[in-house]
Amino acid sequence: MVQKEIELKKVKLHLGYSGYCLAKENHTLKNGKNIEIKFFALWGLIKHPSKGIILFDTGYTHRFFKATKKYPNKLYAKLTKVVLKEEDEVRCLLETNNINADEIKHVIVSHFHADHVGGLKDFKNAKIHVSQKAFKQATTISKTFGFRKGVLKDLIPDDLHLKASIIEENSVKINDPFFKHKYDLFGDQSILVFNLDGHAAGQIGILIQTEKEKYFLIADACWNIKAITEGILPNPIVRLFFDSWSDYKSTIYKIQKFHENNKEVKIIPTHCSKTTDSLVSNKISFNDL
Ligand SMILES: [Zn+2]
Repeated sequence: MVQKEIELKKVKLHLGYSGYCLAKENHTLKNGKNIEIKFFALWGLIKHPSKGIILFDTGYTHRFFKATKKYPNKLYAKLTKVVLKEEDEVRCLLETNNINADEIKHVIVSHFHADHVGGLKDFKNAKIHVSQKAFKQATTISKTFGFRKGVLKDLIPDDLHLKASIIEENSVKINDPFFKHKYDLFGDQSILVFNLDGHAAGQIGILIQTEKEKYFLIADACWNIKAITEGILPNPIVRLFFDSWSDYKSTIYKIQKFHENNKEVKIIPTHCSKTTDSLVSNKISFNDL
C-alpha cells in the first residue's frame, strides 16, 4: 500500500545561494570523477500565512573567514575552500529585495555546519528552531575542537540558549510510517520537521507545500540526489567527517522509502546543484516555486 503524506497548509518558498565551497565529485559520489565541483550554500525563505518570513538555514557569510583565520580552525578552511561575495550573503540579498533582517522572526537550522549557520548572527529577532541533539552539540562543543565536527563556535550566537526553540519539546509529535516520528513545527500543518541523523549531530529536514509543489528540504542527508534515486552513496572516506555513518545510511533508506511512496514530492539536498540550480534566484520571488 502506498503511504501518502498528510495534507499540508500552503506556504510560499524562495531558494537562494550564499557562497559555495569546492569539493571533489568522487568524494560525493562513489563512482564520481576526480574533478572539483561547487557545493553551493543553499537556504530557503518561507512565507508563512501568519508567522511571516522564515529562514531555513543561512548560508556562508564573511564570518567564516574570520572564524578560520587561526589554527586549529584554519584546517576547516583548508579542507573546504570557500568562495563568497559579500553581496551574496543572505542578509544582503534580503536587503536588496527590501526585506530587513530584523523582520525575520524564525530561523530553522538544519544543522550547525558553517555553510548552514554562517548568517545566523544576522537575525537578532529570530527564534532559532533546532533539534535537541544539534542544540546540545552546539552549546557544549569546545571552541578549539568544534571544527573537527564541522562546527565553528564563532558563527553561533552567544545567547543561543535564550533564542533556541527545541523542536522535540515545542512542536506537535506525529507518527510517521518511514521516519517513525515527525514534528509539526507550529502545530498548524504548515512545516513538518524530520530527524535526519547521520551527516551531522541532530540534523533535520522540513517538508512544506506551496501552491505548485511539495518540497522536502533534506539538508545534507545526501549530497547528490542519486543517493536517493539510484542508491549511490558518497565515497566511504567522507565518513570520517560524519556524525554517524550507520545513521547516515539508515536516513538515506528512510528517504528512499518516503520517495517511493511520495513520488510527486521534490526532494532538495542542499548541495545537489543539478537539483537546485533551476530553482534558485538572486531576485527574491515567492511566486516561482
Ligand atoms: Zn552542508
